[in-house]
Amino acid sequence: MISQDCIFCKIINKEIPAKIVAENDDVFVMQDINPKAPVHYLIMPKKHIVNIKELHDSDSHYMSKMMLMARELSKKLPGDGSFRLIMNNGAGAGQSVFHMHCHFLSGKKMLDF
Ligand code: 5GP
Ligand code: ZN
Repeated sequence: MISQDCIFCKIINKEIPAKIVAENDDVFVMQDINPKAPVHYLIMPKKHIVNIKELHDSDSHYMSKMMLMARELSKKLPGDGSFRLIMNNGAGAGQSVFHMHCHFLSGKKMLDF
């Protein structure tokens, strides 16, 4: 379940502090340490999964749990509750922490892609 040398596993396990936004049995949400938008959360499974490339069929429920968490987080946003989700899968796509996570971004205009 937990990877010994994964910083996100250590945070989930409360060995390293973080600004926790929400958590349930399957999913953990914290504020990004280097926010790229006024709201920048990281939504991740509590189980150590590297990224979608290494997602097993038997772990696919974590994906829906992460999306449902995004829905719940969006309800607390001001205005129309718009948000963007980004997942980097692999170093070539910009993934720097190899514990699957979804960036939840809001609070500024993001019309470019
Ligand atoms: P990636 O580049 O893998 O898609 O995203 C990793 C994200 O994790 C980055 O946005 C980075 O700012 C964030 N991050 C890295 N280390 C920590 C940490 O120790 N605590 C928190 N809260 N965020 C972190
Ligand atoms: Zn991990």
